[in-house]
Amino acid sequence: MDTNGWDAKPATRGSCRCPWRDISSGYNLFLQGCVFVVGSGVRVRFWEDDWGRGGVLKEVFPRLFNLSRKQNHNISSFARSDGLLLSWDFGFRRNLNELEITEVARLLDLLEGVRLFTSRLDKRIWKFDPSGLFTCHSFCSHIQNCGEGEIFPPYTQIWKAKTPLKVKIFVWQAVLGKLNTGDTLQRRCPYLCMSPHWCALCNMAGDSVNHLLLHCPFSLKLWETLLQEVNTVWVIPEGCFELFSIRIDALGRGKKAKVLWGSLMQAVVWNLWLERNRRIFEDYKGVGVAELWDRVKFWAALWASTSPAFKDVPYPSIMRNLLAVVS
Ligand SMILES: [Zn+2]
Repeated sequence: MDTNGWDAKPATRGSCRCPWRDISSGYNLFLQGCVFVVGSGVRVRFWEDDWGRGGVLKEVFPRLFNLSRKQNHNISSFARSDGLLLSWDFGFRRNLNELEITEVARLLDLLEGVRLFTSRLDKRIWKFDPSGLFTCHSFCSHIQNCGEGEIFPPYTQIWKAKTPLKVKIFVWQAVLGKLNTGDTLQRRCPYLCMSPHWCALCNMAGDSVNHLLLHCPFSLKLWETLLQEVNTVWVIPEGCFELFSIRIDALGRGKKAKVLWGSLMQAVVWNLWLERNRRIFEDYKGVGVAELWDRVKFWAALWASTSPAFKDVPYPSIMRNLLAVVS
């Protein structure tokens, strides 16, 4: 913890197992949404925290901040109570010149009206939400509004789909190339993976995320079956990232069409992954493309039928004819 008791210290080292460095790289953005409500002033830093005096004081008065011996000190250590009034001791290390005296006068103007209450705790509130509490949604909106957030193309197709959360998380990991396929295991623990390049679906080389879920001959047949069923053709995408980045309106642009197509896409990759794992870890010989396609249709229809768009449409009807239910 940093000295104010709220902020975590920035991480200097990071690894794939310890993502704190990446998380803390967005900490300055997070601090833009924090406002301090001063009570006793013992947990709010005078120069470094934004406590409602026109911004962070060390940025508004950089020259005075450099002259102060009290960097990283809390407000209460600057203030001396004299009855109702507060007098301020900034701890300057030398006498000030004329320009600096003018800046101090400006600073004292800003501090006019500040009161400290020993019985009140300092608080930190989140200014981008009316409740004053942090929400991911308000933070995300702030990042997008200030142009800091990178738009991640597969975001909408993954997280807006009407599929179970565990499936969405799986697809998210696949898009980021974070699945424990043979090539990744070989890199992380070479002594654990005895045949890193063997694909359980085609019994040939290439157990990588893109091969397994897209380019494997077995997987390609499954994708082709889906596309034939909905009368669409495509150019095979380069990888899972591109697959979930491009929008294919195979079933049309209506609400039902989007829901069902989103479910079908995720059901294909989810069932390919389950099939691959069962073939590797269980005493199971595997099924052909036709049977796997039936499973894909079943899960996609089931997930889609839970959406309000398919209210009153039972999942067997969706399974029977994918095109008819969205027309
Ligand atoms: Zn394969």
